[in-house]
Amino acid sequence: MVENNELRKAGLKVTLPRVKILQMLDSSGHRHMSAEDVYKALMEAGEDVGLATVYRVLTQFEAAGLVVRHNFDGGHAVFELADSGHHDHMVCVDSGEVIEFFDTEIEKRQKEIVKEHGFELVDHNLVLYVRKKK
Ligand SMILES: [Zn+2]
Repeated sequence: MVENNELRKAGLKVTLPRVKILQMLDSSGHRHMSAEDVYKALMEAGEDVGLATVYRVLTQFEAAGLVVRHNFDGGHAVFELADSGHHDHMVCVDSGEVIEFFDTEIEKRQKEIVKEHGFELVDHNLVLYVRKKK
């Protein structure tokens, strides 16, 4: 199984809750899930994994570099698999929906601005808080 290999590669022992949670993050149509989202999805799939276990496993996944945690304003922390390249996020303030985007102009300008201040860019995290246009 792919999940078993991913766990081993990350230095984690293969346990059933870890496999189930990793599968859920992989297969769910939502790339950004809170611990509650993962818990509910597992319940709906008939999997018996408690919320406390989901929290603990997601924290272990984060420490092992398998997932990235985002603490967006006004919501729960959401987790996404660390398998995609760099991107930024938009968060809808009404629905909490998370939208990914990547813009080469923004990426370029950020580097230039940092350079103008005598630095080099190490990392960045851009979050736009948005609302559906009426
Ligand atoms: Zn993302």
